[in-house]
Order: sequence, then structure tokens, then C-alpha cells
Amino acid sequence: MIKEYIEQIKSKKTTTESAVKVFVDRCKADTKGAILQVFDSWVQQAKAVDAKIAKGLPVGRLAGVPIILKDNIMFKGHRAGASSKIMDGFIAPYTATFVEKLIAEDAIIIARADMDEFAMGGVGRYAYNGPTKNAHSDQHHAGGSSSGSAVSVALDYCLAALGSDTAGSVRYPAALNGIVGVKPTYGSVSRYGAVAFGSNLEQIGVFTKSVPDNQLVLDVISGKCPFDATSFAPIVGAVPHRPLSELRIGKIKELWEAFADSPFLGHYEDILNKLRDSGAKIVDISIPDIVKSINCYYALAPTQAASNLSRFDGVRFGTMTDSENLNELYHKTRTVGFGTEVKRRVLLGNLMLSTKTDRPSNVKQRIADGHTAAFKKCDVLIIPTGAGVAPQIGVPISPIDDYLVDLFTVPANLSGSPAVSIPCGVDTNSGLPLGIQIVADVWNETLMYDVAAKLQEVIK
Ligand code: GLN
Repeated sequence: MIKEYIEQIKSKKTTTESAVKVFVDRCKADTKGAILQVFDSWVQQAKAVDAKIAKGLPVGRLAGVPIILKDNIMFKGHRAGASSKIMDGFIAPYTATFVEKLIAEDAIIIARADMDEFAMGGVGRYAYNGPTKNAHSDQHHAGGSSSGSAVSVALDYCLAALGSDTAGSVRYPAALNGIVGVKPTYGSVSRYGAVAFGSNLEQIGVFTKSVPDNQLVLDVISGKCPFDATSFAPIVGAVPHRPLSELRIGKIKELWEAFADSPFLGHYEDILNKLRDSGAKIVDISIPDIVKSINCYYALAPTQAASNLSRFDGVRFGTMTDSENLNELYHKTRTVGFGTEVKRRVLLGNLMLSTKTDRPSNVKQRIADGHTAAFKKCDVLIIPTGAGVAPQIGVPISPIDDYLVDLFTVPANLSGSPAVSIPCGVDTNSGLPLGIQIVADVWNETLMYDVAAKLQEVIK
């Protein structure tokens, strides 16, 4: 899709400006609560690409491609708020490395999208600006935390969107809105310019409609960055395309047992059978510690959040409240500025920090080791993305149920593995989309994309 779009621009069948305007107009007509702001600067960016084309100069790999950013991403001179009141009025003083890479390839950044406050949430309902509705139903949630980015791609507001994935926040909303969402290998994309939440878990991820589009965008944004010591080399390593009959696809016993209660078990078993019929070998894998993923994550991530969010004190960010002294300033700003879920995480995080235990980190390591061992027995893993379809708006969801949403996605954040969610049909009752994940060994994105594309063919 992106390739064909760029071809139209390069061959002057349309100008960048008029091509991008179609997407911008859709953003402006958004009724889902997905778009927080359309950036006026898109016109200037588009004109610059058109000027290059008019002069016959070479253009980048994403020439004229409209892209939307999650609200926790810095784009110099533009608002970024992590959907939090505490960042109200904040203007990004610099551009994230991965956004610079997009712009260097002539992509056009057109808008910022709604999200759960500070990327904490699985449903898409914890935004200061209000929740995002599902792309396919006004009665259902979009899934979080990158809710607006997912809906934007599903409704063709852009050709690609960026999100952040600390426990599943790209893959889960991708599944609930019927699109492709990728969390790459930890360290493959610089986090410089993304508002930090769970620093040793999260990666910037990509939403697109197709697998090849996703691979193209990730290829552009990955790579080492001098401002992020945890970023490494770009993703390379083209693997020779292998037919399904040569692939061993691992089924983690413990996760599939947890899925046994899902009303959609039959739907997913049909997919496994189709894979078997295509010659793939389905291999049973066991990672016993994986059942502790949720506990491990909700002990680790809040500790990092408590520390990362300590900078939001009313002095450097947010509106300064009228206060008698410094402590009162911190107290008032954070009381008014943070939403309930963020406060819960900060409390939980500080409680964990004061217990001085290293057990969650040990469990994380054991889960990562379990993945390394698994990839000696199979080439990729197959896991449902969520237990079901998008939750209905208005039906109460407890914080614990919100946390449990991550059950099938969070293991890849704990192991650092790349994972993609692709659409795998719809629930016949509600018509809402379902998703399935392919997880590969670290730095094996090429294999992951290759298998995902083949799986799409099988599901058709
Ligand atoms: N559900 C996870 C949480 O609330 C999602 C985090 C994420 O991936 N950003 O922490």
C-alpha cells in the first residue's frame, strides 16, 4: 500500500500536498476521539517534498507518507501531552530520534493521537481528553494504551502510526481494531523522545494495515542513537524466505491453557489446523514462569513509572499551582495533574521500591531464558493477542481486569522479543476483529514478518 502510494507521488499523478490533504481531512472529521490535534505544519512538510520532486531531486523511502504519533512522542515545536493534565500546554523542545528518521525519509507527520494517560491502561479509557471508541463500533473501546494510533490506521487517517508498547499497548489495540501492530526487539528503536514509563520494557512500535508496510516503517526508525544507551544496531539479518513446511511453530502450553476459557478457542484452533494443513509443524513448548508474567510486570513497571514520573513536579512540567512552599507545590500539582490510574501506579511503584526485593527482576530473567530455550526448539511462537474482542463501553472493568488484558502480550516485553499482531478474522456475533501474534527470537524481525505474511495467506 505505501509503495503504491509513493509511486503515485513520485510519478506526479498527484502532489504530496493533495494526497496528504485527503488523510488530514479524515483526521479533522474524526468522531472516535482518536485525534487530539492535527498539526498545521503538515502543509509545509508536504510542500517541501513536492519541491524536491519538482526539481527532480531524489526523495526518501517514505516520501509523502502521512504518519500519526501517539501523544507521548516529541516533535519539536508541537504539543505532546501523554494524554495527561499534568502535561497540559507542553510543547516539545526537541524531536524524537525515530521521528527525525521518519522525516529524513520525507514522511509527513500530520497529527497526535489519544492514548491512556502515560501509556498506563489496556482499554483506551484512561485519557485526560476522554476515551477512544473502537474503529468498528461506537459501543466498544479501542483498546490501549495506543488507542488513537490504532484507530487512526484502521480508519485510514494515515498510512502508519507510532505507539509505545510496554506490555502490549501496540499489539492489543491493533488486534481490537483489525490492523497490524508490531513491538520490535528491545533496543532496536531509540526511546529518546518518548515519554518514559517502563524503561526496560518498552519500545516504540508501528501500526499499519499491511505487514510489508510495517516492515518498511520499522526499518526506517530502527538503529543506534547517541541519546539512548539502550539502543543498538538497526535490525538487519535478512533470512531466506522459508516455506511453512520448513517451519516449527511453538505453542506455549501455559499460555494456551490460560486461553482455554476463551469463547474464541475454536476460532484459534481452526487457524492452527490450517497451519498444520499447510505443512507447518506445531511444536509444544513449556515456559513455566510465564504464568507469573502479569505479577512480574505489575511489580516492575510501576517501580520504573514511579521513578520516571517524579520529574512531573509542577516546576519543569505542567501548570504551576499557587502554593506556600515547595512540598505543597509538588503535592498540589501531582494531586490535580495525575489521573487515578497513574496515581495507583506511582503508589504501587513506591511500595515495591520500599520492599527492596529483586524477585520480579529474577522472574523477568527466567522468562527471557525460557524464550531463549524455546527458540532452540521452534522458529517462532504463536499466541492469541487477547482473550477476546473489544470490551463494551459502559460495562465496568476493574483495575485488575484491565491488567489481565496483558496476559498474552507482556511475555514478549519481559523477554525483549519482537512480536507482531495480525488480524485473524472477526467474531461472528459482534463483527469485531480478533488478532493473533507471531513472536520471534530477539533481532529476528525479518523471520517474524515473513511468517506473519505467510500466516495471513493461510487465514484468508
Ligand atoms: N496494560 C499495560 C499497562 O497498563 C499496557 C502498557 C503499555 O504497553 N504501555 O501497563
